Amino acid sequence: MSHGWGYGPTNGPDKWEEDFPVANGPRQSPINIVPKEAQYDSTLKVLKLKYDPSNSNGILNNGHSFQVDFVDDTDSSTLTGGPISGTYRLKQFHFHWGASDDRGSEHTVNGINFPCELHLVHWNTKYPSFGEAASQPDGLAVVGVFLKIGAANPRLQKVLDALDAIKTKGKQTTFPNFDPKTLLPGSLHYWTYDGSLTTPPLLESVTWIVLKEPISVSPAQMAKFRSLLFTGEGESPCCMADNYRPPQPLKGRKVRASFK
Ligand SMILES: [Zn+2]
Repeated sequence: MSHGWGYGPTNGPDKWEEDFPVANGPRQSPINIVPKEAQYDSTLKVLKLKYDPSNSNGILNNGHSFQVDFVDDTDSSTLTGGPISGTYRLKQFHFHWGASDDRGSEHTVNGINFPCELHLVHWNTKYPSFGEAASQPDGLAVVGVFLKIGAANPRLQKVLDALDAIKTKGKQTTFPNFDPKTLLPGSLHYWTYDGSLTTPPLLESVTWIVLKEPISVSPAQMAKFRSLLFTGEGESPCCMADNYRPPQPLKGRKVRASFK
């Protein structure tokens, strides 16, 4: 690869296919979800998320988003049930967001954008590691949660308070004792479909589980997301925003719903 990927005009999502041909593959993400075309599937199980707050490890500005990493050497923070079989371990969570509140989510619902989307990334423990799982068709399960403008969200604020310490690319700090379950909405009803990572290498290894109910975020909290920088210390600052990939063609895939 001659140049890195990013979200700028010269290396954004519409350029990724040059280095990652799978960008045009059969099961790319995100997608636009059309609720009336999703099929209710009574065999879909309830989502079971068991997270151990002592697994939260650190928070990192990776130059594309920020991520909270989890210790994943035991089955103490897991996702089971839902559309998946077996046990998937929590690896990290991160967000995608817009430069303004009218855009920023990766998935859309009836063409509607949300200002932000949370992704909780899990890997299938039938494989030896996250790295090996990431290229298998059933290797990863990502829970997506929409953020919708409303009241300030105190549980999200714990995460946002850590951002001042990781303003520039490459910075990281400790982020102990955080339970990501506190970020989830009251209802765990979901849509599910087979898809991919939404960032290079865009591997087609993700069972997507997109929650129907959004969580709230205030305009001031959204501004805090945008105070992060894509750029490293000493570079001319560029605010981190619009770090989302737009919806990709469905190509005949079925979206199933856990609810009527
Ligand atoms: Zn993501």
